[in-house]
Amino acid sequence: MKASATFESGVLTDERPGAVKPPRDLWEKHKGGLVLVECPQRIPCNPCNTSCPTGAIVPFEDINNVPTINYEKCTGCAMCVAKCPGLACFVVDLTWGEEIALLKLPYEMLPLPQKGSTVKCLGRTGEIVCEGKVENILEPLKDRTKVVHVAIPSDKVGDVRAIEVA
Ligand code: SF4
Ligand code: SF4
Repeated sequence: MKASATFESGVLTDERPGAVKPPRDLWEKHKGGLVLVECPQRIPCNPCNTSCPTGAIVPFEDINNVPTINYEKCTGCAMCVAKCPGLACFVVDLTWGEEIALLKLPYEMLPLPQKGSTVKCLGRTGEIVCEGKVENILEPLKDRTKVVHVAIPSDKVGDVRAIEVA
């Protein structure tokens, strides 16, 4: 079988093959946000499921399966964001503000951003997409993986996947 362009490049394309994003009608009204999972390749991995307190990441019948999500159960808690070893889980809250969304992303670098600071927001290939304001920095699992909350323009939620801290 021919490998898809996704796997040849290692980067999800604009068409987002393999990415799982919430149904728009539910997403737009869900305070706290809903999870986005960008994990298209079959690998033996399931911490997203085992860390999810609500069962929103559906239990894997085969540990090699890619995640499936029951969006009715997602609270936007971001436990999966902190636990995923592939840094493939994100939460986006589209209710955060007028044309401003809150992106909760994994962060394992130093230095940490300062709360209230402005950071560069990067796309999947490291390109600068926009600026964002750091609203919070949490460590839900107390294992050094931080979950940084960044306010970004709502129309960039499909593009921003990392931040650069000067
Ligand atoms: S954000 Fe929370 S509730 Fe939603 S899938 Fe992740 S761990 Fe589960
Ligand atoms: S924990 Fe992350 S890398 Fe592992 S299956 Fe879940 S989303 Fe994919």
